[in-house]
Amino acid sequence: MSVPPSATTAGTRDAAAPGVPARMRALVVLEPNRFEIQDVPVPAPGANQVLARVRAVSICGTDAHLVRGDYPGFWPPSFPFIPGHEWSGDVVALGPGAGMLGWSIGDRVAGTSHDACGVCQKCVEGRYNLCENYGVEGLHRQYGHNAQGADATYVVHGVKAVFRLPDGLSYAEGAVVDPASIALHVANRGGVRPGDTVAITGAGAIGLLAGDAALVRGAGRVIVLENNPARIAKATALGFETVDSRAADTVAEVRARTGGLGVDVVLECAGVPATVQLALAMLRRGGRCAAVGIPTKGVEIAMQRIVLDELELVGCRASAGEMRQVMPLVEQGRLRVRDVTTHHFALDDYARALATFNDPTSGAIKIIIEP
Ligand SMILES: [Zn+2]
Ligand SMILES: [Zn+2]
Repeated sequence: MSVPPSATTAGTRDAAAPGVPARMRALVVLEPNRFEIQDVPVPAPGANQVLARVRAVSICGTDAHLVRGDYPGFWPPSFPFIPGHEWSGDVVALGPGAGMLGWSIGDRVAGTSHDACGVCQKCVEGRYNLCENYGVEGLHRQYGHNAQGADATYVVHGVKAVFRLPDGLSYAEGAVVDPASIALHVANRGGVRPGDTVAITGAGAIGLLAGDAALVRGAGRVIVLENNPARIAKATALGFETVDSRAADTVAEVRARTGGLGVDVVLECAGVPATVQLALAMLRRGGRCAAVGIPTKGVEIAMQRIVLDELELVGCRASAGEMRQVMPLVEQGRLRVRDVTTHHFALDDYARALATFNDPTSGAIKIIIEP
């Protein structure tokens, strides 16, 4: 079995656009909470990989955690590290095999993080987000998590992790296709059916796009729970019913609005213990909670209700197949990536961009970096 070389080892360029420089600008995180923009070598694409000029990359909650050092030894495995995994750009060089697989210089692409092994049983079954060779050198990489990310002027990706960006979509929109694919994955995992009442906990980018994805799947009603006033206003402006989760009894409020029954599905997009408990408490009997937020600590679960009311709680990791599926939905404005994009910054301004992202009063949802 041949394995692609790591993105940081030199491969042979099958073909390259003229003018690809030897060095690039990149956001380098030196240690938790210390980063700078550095001049570093442009990586060379290995087998079945492409080199892309990054045009837009959006800040994800995971990036903020990673810069803070919240996942020590895992994301990233070590510092220094270049984050960024929600991006779009142009293919400027092809590694061996990429041309044969249909890729050309000049292709506009949107990237995603998982470049899985493709041969383990989970990959064979199409669940490459659960690759059994996760993080094994030479078999699996997750860009911006355990392999160099896209917060740079250039990035190398395996062809499994790039998707054609339709002409109708801008680079800024392309940088939000990855989170849109995750939102669709959450709604798919939630098993939203036509007419369902769906609650969303957390009106960040994933929450708002998951609301759209629930509607795509036929939800009759989407209720967004959020505690940040700016985000409540955003959810309302997007036409969602909202509940201020700072209210004394949010569960009672949701039950009152659903004839005392609760909601059919909750898409848990906040990732804090209290919202996970809230999500389970507002489910209708037989309801399902699909959780994509990742709490940094354990959560006490009301197991009696899960058993006696046949509740379901399922996890959602990244996306698996939804990048291609979500592209036309984004193009048609059914997953409203432009509406969740609030700020644009240059790569040199990353510190200001991240501070804006982390400031709950800034109104920031999706922040686009243009390297
Ligand atoms: Zn992300
Ligand atoms: Zn695999």
